[in-house]
Amino acid sequence: LRSQEPEMLGHPKGLFYLFFAELWERFSFYGMRALLTLYMVNEIFEALATRDLAAAAVYSSYGSLVYASTVVGGRISDKLLGFRRSIMLGGILMALGHFVLAIENDMAFFLALAFIVVGNGFFKPNISTFVGALYKDGDVRKDSGFTIFYMGINIGGFIAPILCGWLGREYGWHYGFGLAGIGMLTGLAFFWSGLKSGIFGDKGLPPSEEGLNKPVLGLKKKVLVPVLSFLAAPFIALMLASYEPVLGGESFFGDQNFVNILFKGIGIAILLYMAFIIYQATPSERKKLAVALFITLFMTVFWGFHELSGSVITLFADRNVNLSIIDAAQTNSLNSMFIIFLSIPISLLWTSLAKKKKNPRTPYKFGMGLLLAGVSFYVLALSRGAADENGMVPFVYLLLMYFLLSVGELFMSPVGLSKITDLSPKRIVAFMMGVWFLSSAFAFQVVGFIGKKLAIESDNADIRGFDSLDVYIGGFEMIAQYAIGAGLIVFILSPLLNRWMQNVH
Ligand code: GLN
Repeated sequence: LRSQEPEMLGHPKGLFYLFFAELWERFSFYGMRALLTLYMVNEIFEALATRDLAAAAVYSSYGSLVYASTVVGGRISDKLLGFRRSIMLGGILMALGHFVLAIENDMAFFLALAFIVVGNGFFKPNISTFVGALYKDGDVRKDSGFTIFYMGINIGGFIAPILCGWLGREYGWHYGFGLAGIGMLTGLAFFWSGLKSGIFGDKGLPPSEEGLNKPVLGLKKKVLVPVLSFLAAPFIALMLASYEPVLGGESFFGDQNFVNILFKGIGIAILLYMAFIIYQATPSERKKLAVALFITLFMTVFWGFHELSGSVITLFADRNVNLSIIDAAQTNSLNSMFIIFLSIPISLLWTSLAKKKKNPRTPYKFGMGLLLAGVSFYVLALSRGAADENGMVPFVYLLLMYFLLSVGELFMSPVGLSKITDLSPKRIVAFMMGVWFLSSAFAFQVVGFIGKKLAIESDNADIRGFDSLDVYIGGFEMIAQYAIGAGLIVFILSPLLNRWMQNVH
């Protein structure tokens, strides 16, 4: 089943270009994310008493859109652009977004986020699918190829908050954002050099050159798509800003913003469409699709707690954790650090258990993942008992929390990714992948909901001590209960889900 293409360390050589391109793209994504909430609270919304609320709303809307756009970007790539053009376009838009963030201007802020939303939509899904395309169907190296790729993601996610956080603290926010932009350009340079070397052969080309050159509205489609992508940005910027505390006045949507309402609509539409697909499928496919939908839902719950790391947990680290070696922005590296250490041991654990026919089936792994998330937040809540007289807790609790959360992530995220492909009939596998990515998008709605509940209203931007500690600890206890509850529900449902999965493990 192996192809005759050049190899490196037993994998297609193209993987290493994609590895470095994604490493640097994630460097920019996570470097910026590490600064985002602190920047909003301390700069953009600094003058508002509701600054936490506004920051939570924008973080949530940005996160939802940045993952939802992958569905559109994936589709345009399949139908028209192909991976290569999509990835280049996405990378350019993302770099632009990060450089616009480096400009000191509040309006530029929303426009910058919008460029990143559109750019990520073209970059992220297509570079992931490109990895899959390097291997022929049934190539046993594919899983380990994805493990290597996930490592690349997390190497970027580990280094960036440390460097961008340091620059942001020592020289100013805009230097931190600027470095994120340089990271993205580095990623593009790697990808470009891969293209120039001819290593990808005929992979990732557009489905038809003719289609690309077809004129619409007087422009060739290959020009029209980038033009429309740029033009979409101001509208997305408006969506991000359409919220009362952000505008500092009344908004038509009240305490919801446009993105909240949009996502309720998308959610209902997807569920109806899934019901239709399930209705049309054969009885055996039907059961597998129902499982795919369930695991996507469980993943949404997990990311809903996990993605708090860039908002509530960063603020908690800033206001209530005794940090000495690293600062609050830099704590964003901890998740990726643990993933780097743990991803290979845990994937080896599954293979060795599989050899003994003891590999737990997917629903059990998901149940465990959610329980681990619950325990991780419980550990964070326990830190209250060790708070000093200033309401500051020891760093070790945060470290332990990230360790447990990262183990949970590895029980779910990479496993789910491969199961979605196994559980979906071939004819709708791309659509189901889109639904899978939407789990992250919907998770950010959960993140927004929790973030708003744990927002602290104060005239003093430098709020610290027990005032903020008690709000956060109450929240962490609630989250722990919900996550553990969700994990138990998954365990109760597991025997049924296992049966529905049939031959899929
Ligand atoms: N950390 C992973 C990545 O950046 C997954 C994040 C997510 O899907 N929410 O690719």
